[in-house]
Amino acid sequence: MSGDTIFGKIIRREIPATIVYEDDRCLAFRDIAPQAPTHILVIPKQPLANLSQASPEDGTLLGHLLLVVKTVADQEGLATSGYRVVINTGRDGGQTVDHLHLHILGGRSLEWPPG
Ligand code: 5GP
Repeated sequence: MSGDTIFGKIIRREIPATIVYEDDRCLAFRDIAPQAPTHILVIPKQPLANLSQASPEDGTLLGHLLLVVKTVADQEGLATSGYRVVINTGRDGGQTVDHLHLHILGGRSLEWPPG
């Protein structure tokens, strides 16, 4: 169910991670190098490399990932203060792991625009 990336290893429990949510389609865990007091990654278990690789058939999964972001943000107490959701995509997007992931960043005021 998972690709050959560090995130695939986390899905397969080959390396540890602090998992905060899991269901049959996705996993959410704390980022190893947090950029905010709360920094969580939501990933599909299916090995989709990035948003550019998504097709119309992935629409239900992509919608599910966004709803999981909301669930996790609520769980983390971010609903009132707010948070940012980031999907770095490809080289110019700053993507470093080729397995689709949604960053949830919260717990401090975030600047805009990003660098
Ligand atoms: P990207 O730069 O591709 O958008 O984000 C990849 C994220 O994965 C980075 O924020 C990085 O800190 C995180 N990351 C990379 N390796 C690991 C790991 O082994 N465990 C966890 N929990 N996060 C990781």
